[in-house]
Formats: sequence, C-alpha cells, structure tokens
Amino acid sequence: MTATLTGRIARSGAPLAEVPRAAVYCRISDDRRGLGLGVERQRQDCHELARRHGWEIVGTYIDNDVSAYSGKPRPQYADLMDAVRAAAVDVVLAWDPDRLHRSPAELESFIVAVERAGVDVVTVQAGEWDLSTANGRLTARLLGSIARHESEHKSERVRRALEQNATAGRPHGRRAYGWQRQRTPDGAVREVVVPEEAAVVRRIADALLAGESLRSVTAALNAEGIPSPAGKPWGKNMVRALVLRERNAGLRVHQGEIVGDGAWDAILDRGRWEQLRAALSDPGRRTSTGTAAAHLLSGLAHCGVCGAALRVAQNRGIPSYRCSASGCVIRRKVDLDRLIVGLVAARLARPDAVSLFVPDDSVERSAALAEAEQLRGRLDHAADQYADGAIDGRQLERITAKLRPLLAEAEGRSRVLDPAPLLDGLVGAEHWAEVWESLPLSRRRAVVDTLLTITVNRTRQGARTFDPEAVAIGWKGSAA
Ligand SMILES: [Zn+2]
Repeated sequence: MTATLTGRIARSGAPLAEVPRAAVYCRISDDRRGLGLGVERQRQDCHELARRHGWEIVGTYIDNDVSAYSGKPRPQYADLMDAVRAAAVDVVLAWDPDRLHRSPAELESFIVAVERAGVDVVTVQAGEWDLSTANGRLTARLLGSIARHESEHKSERVRRALEQNATAGRPHGRRAYGWQRQRTPDGAVREVVVPEEAAVVRRIADALLAGESLRSVTAALNAEGIPSPAGKPWGKNMVRALVLRERNAGLRVHQGEIVGDGAWDAILDRGRWEQLRAALSDPGRRTSTGTAAAHLLSGLAHCGVCGAALRVAQNRGIPSYRCSASGCVIRRKVDLDRLIVGLVAARLARPDAVSLFVPDDSVERSAALAEAEQLRGRLDHAADQYADGAIDGRQLERITAKLRPLLAEAEGRSRVLDPAPLLDGLVGAEHWAEVWESLPLSRRRAVVDTLLTITVNRTRQGARTFDPEAVAIGWKGSAA
C-alpha cells in the first residue's frame, strides 16, 4: 500500500505546505460483500489508511444504495464529485473500486473528473488506483467490468426467474417452499422461515433418516392431505427433490455448485442434510425403495448354504422365507420373523442400548469432515476472490475443477450415517411391541438391517419344528 502518488500530492513537489485532504466514500449495497462488509468497516479501514499516510479527512460520504446496478442516483457520490471538481480534496479514499463505480459510464466520467482535478484515488483493497496512466485506467476498467459482469449476471438471473414465474403463472415471484419474503423496515427483502412448511420439510427428513422409504413418506403426506409446494398430490420425486435442496441447509448454489452460505435461515442442520444426501444416494436404498419389500426379512436374511438372499414363497400354502437361488433352505415366515423381532427387542432393551449407536466420531471420520469443511472454505474463498475481481472466471473454473473432486472424495469418506434417529422411540419404549408394530415396514427393516445379519442354515432333514439354533445371527458394528 505504499502509494506512489501521481496526482496533486505528488505534483506539489517540495514539502507540502498543508496536510493532504482526503475524502472517504462508502457505499452500502445488498451484494454479498456488502453484507459482509458493513459501512462501518469500510469507513474504519479508510480512516486507518488515511491515518497511516498522515492525511486529513475532510469529508465522509456514505450512500445507501441497495442495488449496485440500479442506476439510482447517489446523492453523496454527487457531493463527492462536486468536491473533487472544486479542488476541495486531494485524495479520494474508498474500500474497493466498485464501491465507487457501478458502471463503465460512471467510471469514465470519474476518470475525467479526477484527472482534471489532479486528485489521487486510493482504495483499501486495490491500493492506489493510478488513473493518470493507461495501465491504471485499464486496470480500473477491468476491475469495473468484472463487478459489472457480476451485477449483470445477477440481473440476468433475476430476469430469468421472473420469466419462469410468469410461465408458471405465479405473478408475485416464485418463493422457495419453506420461506417467504419479507420487506424489512430499511427496504431490503429478507427470506423468513414459514414454520408450517419448514415442519413438513423436517418431518420428511426425520422419516427418511429413520429409515422410512420415500414411498411410505409420500403416501403419508398425501393421506394426511398436507398441501404440496405445487398444489398437486405429493410424488416420490417431489419429496426427494424438496428435502435434498441445498437451501434447506442454508447453502447458496451458483450455477449448480455450492458457493457459500445463503442469507436465509436453514431449515435442516448441515449434518442432517448431508446424511440425507448420503442416504438417498445410497444404491442399496434405491433398490429397496424401487420395489418396496413386503416382508420384514426378504433380502435381509441369507442362505447359509449358497449365500443367496431369502425371499418369501408359499410352501404348502404357508408363507415362508426360501433361498432365492436354489431353495437350499426354507423357514416359515412367522417363525423367523418372531425370532428376529425378539432379538431386536432384547437388544434394544439392554441398559447400554441408549449409547448403542452414538454417531461414529472416529478419527478418520473427523478428519474427513474437517477436510471437507476446509475444501468448502477454499471454494468459498475462490468465489469471493472472483466476486472481488482478484481472479477471473477462468481461474475460478480451474480452482473449482481442482477442488470439487477432492471435496466429493472427502465427503464420501465422512459419510457415516448416524443411526440415532432410526432407533428413536424404540430404545427403552414401554410398550415395545406396540411401538414396533406401529412403525412402517421400511423402518422396521432398516432397524433389523442396522442391528444384525441373519444366516439361515440347513436343519436336519425332515425337521418340522423351527430350530433357532439353525439361524446364525451376527451383531453389526457397535451393536455387538
Ligand atoms: Zn441357497
């Protein structure tokens, strides 16, 4: 920030008779940097810079300009330019160049005015802005065009969104299900959570995390007559898309990629949202929701002879689990179900059951989570740098292309489902059997699948009675 000043201060040659007079310009806008960088911070940084240079601040000009691209008049900026033309200031101080200008046209007239007056321009972010050289002006124009590109991009998106709303017949703008827009007293628009809708999103998330299928969740929403975002009956894909929205976790998406935190309140916490994303993209889950299993243990119990999954078949009119490959083993469904449910109940009744499935906080997982967090931070930082004009679009693309796969990989390693919601209400339940029977089949299956493995072995030929000894149970993971 050692400014080689070229304007009035430098040209005055010999020791200045008076202390250079500085004018500070701050602008409040609703862009992301604007939110992160309140006017007070802009002002403080500029004053600090002036102090370091030993300049006297003769004026502070602050415009409240919520849209950087509105073309709305800025009265304080106009006053600043009057001071510049009247040679009442020697240096203009701003936080960064695009606080000063919102368009190339504004930049050009600014250049003319400061050159004519021999005024220096210094910004906290970009250092001295030497508009007296071709390089300096080019830099200023390029920085300005990036800021403008951002603004144009933003208005383009707004326009497209409006068009979309128009075709969808929503005259007042499409709001996201779960939030509504509210105008704050200072004129800004904020998205606030609609409690009833947020509750629906949370309920879907809870049910899915508890192991219920998309199908049963969807059916329940329709059965209860809960209105869907589209006003039509709920569909599986609609439920899935709704609950997986990044914005539920307060994340902002730009062109298909998460670029940072949104300016709204989250409905789901980040950890649960990631669990959902992992759960719903789990291929095992997809098949089980494709054709909802009609029986507690089909596909979960395996044949002790060939290893194939058991499926239900009729055996002399009695529903039975049977080896689906070669019919090596067969058991009456009612017997095997009763055995397994009894085991699950017993396991969950144990005093240590509460701590049975604490989230896996293994070292590896914590490391993976931290790594993913750090990579997200780097992506956010790159997006900020781009927004600040420090890097160009191609650089941003390169950084993103490099970090995305690393992030996906780290997220993959960190995806260990927290089974706590699955067992919610089951551990220590007073009327356990009733609670169990009231759960949807998909959730009961998920509980079984979480707790144990079942291998059905051959019994002595001709044995008519059910032999629990011929069923091998393995406790899974921390259930052991
Ligand atoms: Zn078999």
